[in-house]
Amino acid sequence: MDTTKTILITGAAGFLGSHLCDRFIKEGYHVIGMDNLITGRLKNIEHLFKLKNFEFYNHDVSKFIHIPGQLDYILHFASPASPIDYLKIPIQTLKVGSLGIHNCLGLAKAKNARLMIASTSEVYGDPQVHPQTEEYWGHVNPIGPRGVYDEAKRFQEAITMAYHTFHQVETRIVRIFNTYGPRMRLNDGRVLPAFIGQALRGEDLTIFGDGSQTRSFCYVDDLVEGIYRLLHSDISMPINIGNPNEISIGDFAEEIIKLTGTDQKVIYKDLPVDDPKQRQPDITKARTLLNWEPKIDRAEGLKRTYAYFKGLTTEELNEKDHINFDKFIIK
Ligand code: UDP
Repeated sequence: MDTTKTILITGAAGFLGSHLCDRFIKEGYHVIGMDNLITGRLKNIEHLFKLKNFEFYNHDVSKFIHIPGQLDYILHFASPASPIDYLKIPIQTLKVGSLGIHNCLGLAKAKNARLMIASTSEVYGDPQVHPQTEEYWGHVNPIGPRGVYDEAKRFQEAITMAYHTFHQVETRIVRIFNTYGPRMRLNDGRVLPAFIGQALRGEDLTIFGDGSQTRSFCYVDDLVEGIYRLLHSDISMPINIGNPNEISIGDFAEEIIKLTGTDQKVIYKDLPVDDPKQRQPDITKARTLLNWEPKIDRAEGLKRTYAYFKGLTTEELNEKDHINFDKFIIK
């Protein structure tokens, strides 16, 4: 009897999705990757195409999902995830977090599969509790520019708990804090690729606001390990996964300047609306229940990430973005 477990990973061609595909392939799973390639890139997973235990479906999860045969696990990781992406494609962001998860939950119920959703520290909004524990309900502006992402993710948690409670679907909710590493899109607008891209192109580093806002950055391999453990645990309540080592964006810019050896300076731009002032995960639950904590410190993680970005071609480095968002704008 074939005991190979099959896992569907939505958002497989994205930054996190592609690293998750790698991990589950390594663990001997049959991996079905799904992506509609709006923000994902086939380049992130092309090394998997030659494998027998990897399949790829170019499909939008907001539409009915048909998967033949057995399915043991579903990871719903499809979504635009950077503030400038979800500003450009707000409706798709809302759809993937609502219609998309509804389809995934229906599929999980039909297949008797365990489903995990990628939730986010954004469910805490601009937090008034610091650091953020899973008990904190958050401080989100539903109609602000980030509302399309934050509220989609909050809805996603609500519908996932409802399927768990009313249909006994086995569910897991990971609240992911800022994560970085190879395969981030250089132009996704997030602070790390923005700063490294600017340093590599010889541009000044753009700090939004006065740089006093904080974030806590987790290296992708640590995050993947946390997700792997949570998926195989019996915890259906949300769990924060992130690195509690907090830094101001101003200090982070200085770290990138040192790392890259650039002669450029920092310049200041307006702070985006509703930009959270501080963010740090309380990971007590992950530590005690999953015996997980991050292992890769920022110095090491940044070194690895910088090596990846340095390996990009000049053309890739100067490319504005591979995405033609206009194509996706719903009028
Ligand atoms: N940021 C910045 N310069 C940039 C890009 C981002 O100062 O070129 C700031 C942004 O305003 C925020 C922080 O860096 O305060 C992290 O932004 P990011 O988009 O990476 O993710 P967020 O945590 O806000 O979702």
